[in-house]
Amino acid sequence: MTLARFAFAACIAAFCSLPASAAGVDKLYVLDCGQGVGPDQSRWSPGVNVGVPLPISDNCYLIHHAQGWFLWDTGVADAIAAMPDGQKGVNGGPDWKRPKTLLGQLEALGVKPSDIKAMAVSHTHPDHIGNVELFPQVMLYVQKAEYDWPGVNNAPRFNPNHPVTLLEGDRDVFGDGSIVILSTPGHTPGHQSLQVKLPKTGVVVLSGDAVHFKDNWDNRRVPGFNFSKEQTAASMERIADVLQKEHAQLWINHDKPQSDAQKKSPEFYE
Ligand SMILES: [Zn+2]
Repeated sequence: MTLARFAFAACIAAFCSLPASAAGVDKLYVLDCGQGVGPDQSRWSPGVNVGVPLPISDNCYLIHHAQGWFLWDTGVADAIAAMPDGQKGVNGGPDWKRPKTLLGQLEALGVKPSDIKAMAVSHTHPDHIGNVELFPQVMLYVQKAEYDWPGVNNAPRFNPNHPVTLLEGDRDVFGDGSIVILSTPGHTPGHQSLQVKLPKTGVVVLSGDAVHFKDNWDNRRVPGFNFSKEQTAASMERIADVLQKEHAQLWINHDKPQSDAQKKSPEFYE
């Protein structure tokens, strides 16, 4: 028997076959996409820690799926990295610094913007959409309610030329359950979170800004500036249900102590 025939016969014996389309996630990288300080925590936790500054992390997440790279959130604008004193906050928002650019962190991994297969942002606040247009050809998954939400002076929230898939609810991005966008409105009209199934780490829910830090999660507090208090509360309950059902971890994007304890790119989660 030739080697090729032997391999074929062994393959039949083991019932091996190539899947119709490659499935599954194998790596998740946490990228530093900004370091902020809010001047007054109570902006996010009404009546609690009034006047106390709040240090916050701002992460992006690069996920490797068998069908390609997926980017979740883009952080504050890379241009802030070049500002010696960072960017001052307005209307009680955080001051931002950018110790590392998003592009620099991708480059260190050998990933070019054009290598990204698809992307999504949790919502359209500037600390999440700061670099969407560094990926002008990449399909963007966003809730229709967020896309249609009028911006300042009725300006569109995204470049109208950016390829987009408008969602009205959840979306299993690659159809295999490994990366699922969860509709979690309330912080903004079309806010969304991300459920990722990793082979060793298990299921992780990336919060977006459904909640900003653990103490707010534990006490189910809703920031005063959220679009809808009721929707935010319902979305937190929904996430709690997912965590229980999937035995999942909640990774809270802006929770600095939690983020500081996580592996950062080029290290990754499997
Ligand atoms: Zn945010």
